[in-house]
Amino acid sequence: MNSLLPSDAQVLHSPYLDRPRPRKQKGGTLLARHLTTLEKHQAALANPALAGQSCCAACKIGGLHMHDRRERLFQGEVGGPGRTQVLIFRCSRRATCGATWRILPHFLARHLWRRWTLVGVVLGGSRHRVPQRTEQRWRQRLATAAAVMVALLEQAPTHEWTDVAVRAGGDATRSDVIAAAGGPERLANLAAIIDHLEAGVRLM
Ligand SMILES: [Zn+2]
Repeated sequence: MNSLLPSDAQVLHSPYLDRPRPRKQKGGTLLARHLTTLEKHQAALANPALAGQSCCAACKIGGLHMHDRRERLFQGEVGGPGRTQVLIFRCSRRATCGATWRILPHFLARHLWRRWTLVGVVLGGSRHRVPQRTEQRWRQRLATAAAVMVALLEQAPTHEWTDVAVRAGGDATRSDVIAAAGGPERLANLAAIIDHLEAGVRLM
């Protein structure tokens, strides 16, 4: 398999990447899968109804109301904005739930402070777009075992993703799964389906 890793990389486990979001957690990050571009995201910032969030992911009952917005930097961009805002919604059942949810657009990599396209460019071999230590940390994460991710993808609703699980196999690293999914240009879609299957589990 066309790996993104050096051949002598050891397969380690990474519990913090594989940990689901705690069931009782009062909020967190929701991925807006339809906000695929900065333009669509900016439209949602101007009109939060376009963020497409209707139901609280904690209590599954409350509606979500616009609550706040936060600055979100994303780094390493060339010729484009290096920041945006993210919308924060709060559950309408304030007395019994009150969860708050940050709405992350599909193109932003959670915890990586970059767009997925930039992450893909770096993993594809483009140098000097991120600090060397950052790139090393990313590649170390990609060297970890992907058994949890593969097990999730086996449960995916479409053959597109169950086939990725079959191609990667249970012994795959995260890098192998990315290769089985079609390479670094598929990072955002892969991260989104994994988040959809088990919120909290991270591609990298
Ligand atoms: Zn709620």
